[in-house]
Amino acid sequence: MRNKVIIGNWKMHKNIDEAVTFCKSFKKYSNEMKKHNVLVGVCAPYIDLASIAKYSKDMIIGAQNCHYEDRGAFTGEISHSMLKNIGIKYCIIGHSERRKYFNETSNECNKKIKVLLEDNIIPVYCVGETLEEYEANNTKKVVEKQIKEGLKDLTTKDFDNFVIAYEPVWSIGTGKSASTEIAESVCKYIRDLVAKLISKEASDKVIIQYGGSVKTNNAYDYLHLPDVDGVLVGGASLEVDSFKELASKAL
Ligand code: PEP
Repeated sequence: MRNKVIIGNWKMHKNIDEAVTFCKSFKKYSNEMKKHNVLVGVCAPYIDLASIAKYSKDMIIGAQNCHYEDRGAFTGEISHSMLKNIGIKYCIIGHSERRKYFNETSNECNKKIKVLLEDNIIPVYCVGETLEEYEANNTKKVVEKQIKEGLKDLTTKDFDNFVIAYEPVWSIGTGKSASTEIAESVCKYIRDLVAKLISKEASDKVIIQYGGSVKTNNAYDYLHLPDVDGVLVGGASLEVDSFKELASKAL
């Protein structure tokens, strides 16, 4: 049986003190949730990571991006091996905000995913269509291209620890969450694609999340769909008590 995986994406929020305070009051709860096969935690801004990496044994602590080279003349970047060096275990790749504002492509995501897997860091690969693409009925076509390019050359073993997040761009930060029918149908489509492109075993193992305006009042519905193994949460992950309440809907 697959674990439920609930990840908060803090985006560009929380300084070091705020991040440490959050993790200190979250770790007991996340350890408790683990006993029920629910893994919970956050992907924080780079600057917070060295200070909260020690909580990795208690909760998910992840980055929101990385560079695929080890080191070099890439001003302003942080490499996958730097994340590994401080004990980071998860990394979001290809979030729609990075695709939109930093022109990140699925081919670049593929390079990042490969090096993360080598470092035993779990990629949280984000895919999803824009409003225009949704309205043109192109969701599955767009997602298929992102999956094919992002997962190129991966093998069944790579899916022992792998998260894919389906996040329709029109639902992120807008308060307009996708219906549970859409979430289930696209997540199932992604699972079937993984079976076709990689193997049935990989598709049985891969964790597939829904993300986009998940809040305490709708989390239960997503968390109990057959092909949705968790949620990726932006705004509603910033406050400890309400994030705990949201994650508890997995039980
Ligand atoms: C996100 O940042 O991935 C996200 C889903 O944001 P929100 O929950 O705020 O829509």
